[in-house]
Amino acid sequence: MDLSWSEDEKGFRREARAWLETNLAEWRDELAGPVLSGDTPEGFAQHLRWERRLFAGRWAAVSWAPHHGGRGASLWEWLLFEEEYHRAGAPMRVTQNGVFLLAPSVYEFGTAAQRDGILPRVANADDLWCQGWSEPNAGSDLASLTSAARRVDGGWVLDGQKTWTTRGAFCTHLFGLFRTVAGSTRHHGLSYLLVPLDTPGVTVRGFGRLDGDEGFAEVFFDQAFLADEAVPGGVVLGEPGNGWAVAMATAGSERGLTLRSPGRFLATANRLAGLLAERGGGDAVLRRRVADAWMKAEAYQLHTLRAVTFLAAGEQAGPEASLSKLWWSELDVELHETALDLLGPDAERDGPWSRGWQFSLSGPIYAGTNEVQRNIAAERLLGLPRR
Ligand SMILES: Cc1cc2nc3c(=O)[nH]c(=O)nc-3n(C[C@H](O)[C@H](O)[C@H](O)COP(=O)(O)OP(=O)(O)OC[C@H]3O[C@@H](n4cnc5c(N)ncnc54)[C@H](O)[C@@H]3O)c2cc1C
Repeated sequence: MDLSWSEDEKGFRREARAWLETNLAEWRDELAGPVLSGDTPEGFAQHLRWERRLFAGRWAAVSWAPHHGGRGASLWEWLLFEEEYHRAGAPMRVTQNGVFLLAPSVYEFGTAAQRDGILPRVANADDLWCQGWSEPNAGSDLASLTSAARRVDGGWVLDGQKTWTTRGAFCTHLFGLFRTVAGSTRHHGLSYLLVPLDTPGVTVRGFGRLDGDEGFAEVFFDQAFLADEAVPGGVVLGEPGNGWAVAMATAGSERGLTLRSPGRFLATANRLAGLLAERGGGDAVLRRRVADAWMKAEAYQLHTLRAVTFLAAGEQAGPEASLSKLWWSELDVELHETALDLLGPDAERDGPWSRGWQFSLSGPIYAGTNEVQRNIAAERLLGLPRR
């Protein structure tokens, strides 16, 4: 594997860096106030202004085709862009479910009409997508979900409930799994449906998170009629009844490299090293912990480069995505816990490190819990017997 960047790639990095610097400064000036959490209504609106600016500069989804709002960049260039994005301190993407989870599956399973109709609106933050998988009795055991869709003339009738829907209260659309074959069980007979949240019969009820933000929603479907043409190209992604395969591809994006690119953790590791320097070096144990966490962020970068090498050679992301998920989620906790220990009593204050730490604690839960990822690694990568 050649780890050096070509002149073109270096030029791409310089262009991204310059654009981010100018545009972040302009966006922050326009806000005339602090940048708020994207999981509050006001913060969400602020973040959308930023993301539309990204789209205007064709940086919202760099690896997508130009006619979908991207710039046709390679996966390597995308990694460079992500590094620059986080290095510049640019905000978390509130459109991430659409850009990083739904879109790769639309590219893989969607029709041309779905790709052309859905993707530009995702990139420009016109349609804001949330993920509707978890139900009150179907989290880790997703295949036990009971929300159902019944085929009728010109569409589907939806019944059921989703929960833990991140930013559902602020979004316009939901992608979710529904049982569409009556009498089917487990992962058979499910369909991956694309649902505008203003569909009559759909009720969205937001609720607060433990950290005080309003990021979650429950979504209820009560005889909701979803017309076939409610989304360009049709509301079923992939084959009806075969939604599990599409959902597993989306899960691969969520656990693997697209949702959590290494740039984010490299930037946090560098901020941690800066904090150590600022605080006068800490004791030997803390210095070692900072160095360990920093090296793990570098290791994640190298692991991702390896994964991209496979993807660039036409291979699919498989159960290895579970290993990435275990690594980044545990690393995020470690980076933030080390920072809090460096801060000592100051860690009690509300600030980026304490907020980041609170959110890092959810990393081992969302995108499939780490216990479940360990099961996947044990069974599918190591070939250990199922219990
Ligand atoms: C911040 C955050 C954002 C989220 N956003 C979304 C979203 O946008 N959309 C969405 O659909 N969902 C979302 N979720 C839900 C998330 O996917 C679920 O919480 C997760 O899949 C676990 O499901 P559960 O909460 O029902 O826990 P359970 O499945 O009840 O698990 C409880 C505990 O039992 C363990 N366990 C369960 N089964 C096994 C097993 N077979 N082997 C070993 N241990 C096991 C689990 O690891 C866990 O520790 C989000 C969650 C969080 C925390």
